[in-house]
Amino acid sequence: MRSPTKALAIEYADVAAAHARLQGVAHRTPVHTSQTANALTGAQLFFKCENFQRMGAFKFRGAYNALAQFTPEQRKSGVCAFSSGNHAQGVALSAQLLGIPAAIVMPLDSPAVKMTATRGYGAEVITYDRYTQDREAIGRQLAQERGMTLIPPYDHAHVMAGQGTAAIELFEDTGPLDLLLVCLGGGGLLSGCAVVAQQLSPDCRVIGVEPEAGNDVQQSKQLGHIVKIDTPRTIADGAQTQQVGQLTFPVIQTLVDDIVTVSDAQLVEAMRFTAARMKMVIEPTGALAMAAAMQGVVDVRGKRVGVLISGGNIDIAQFAKYLA
Ligand SMILES: *Cc1c(COP(=O)(O)O)cnc(C)c1O
Repeated sequence: MRSPTKALAIEYADVAAAHARLQGVAHRTPVHTSQTANALTGAQLFFKCENFQRMGAFKFRGAYNALAQFTPEQRKSGVCAFSSGNHAQGVALSAQLLGIPAAIVMPLDSPAVKMTATRGYGAEVITYDRYTQDREAIGRQLAQERGMTLIPPYDHAHVMAGQGTAAIELFEDTGPLDLLLVCLGGGGLLSGCAVVAQQLSPDCRVIGVEPEAGNDVQQSKQLGHIVKIDTPRTIADGAQTQQVGQLTFPVIQTLVDDIVTVSDAQLVEAMRFTAARMKMVIEPTGALAMAAAMQGVVDVRGKRVGVLISGGNIDIAQFAKYLA
């Protein structure tokens, strides 16, 4: 028996409220199918394509849900975030839409395209030297001097609830599923989706997929406490987290059935299939659940399976290099 979600950071009502807040703001992304993928796996696969979300990944959902709930004072003072990835762009775009000043703290050596994209959404980019400067100190200074509110990438109830809205849309389109596969970094997306699955498809097994090189959540779940690891070496840059969140972990412990891992080679294989057969560019982290479904990591035969494709932000030259 699963225990009630009351004590957890979020419950279904929070995700449903986020869903209402995102109406007409976030894209309702398509659920794609592939006869070839079904034939290869013997399953019925439903791909929720968050690579088509605004700014190219589901992160917009959580960021917007958090910023939309700022008080008037918070709106005036602004938001800050640390990220070189999709969270930065999710916060920057949400802040622009809501008229909130945003400062994004990024390493000096972040790819120029990412800095340009973040500035393009109107955010101020504050760079730091990741070898000599402490980003936490920079954040504290921003908070102190400007009164900015820090929004973390996953360990925040409003962020978790926002990410879960992807699963509400998926179940609305597919009806109940046997299995839901979700990629996993800090666990914001997985925890939000697990809360939704419990409500809308109670018999659906929920499985998190993390990179083989960084299976900290798999270890944490087995040991019953949060395990911290060194930054893993993997092409799945959106899942290079060192540890799962304080708020996301209890949800994962309670509502997620299993955690599996896939290798970088399996990610490339999944990206190749997605490009060749489904005509989609997806980033390595976005391919985690896809790889688990397609390459025998999880037994999907005879099942109706939701597969969350989380994002498509990848430098196109790098994408070509992986596939070459
Ligand atoms: C952030 C991110 C993830 C991991 O999400 P968490 O909520 O940290 O588990 C997966 N895929 C993409 C594309 C991301 O940007």
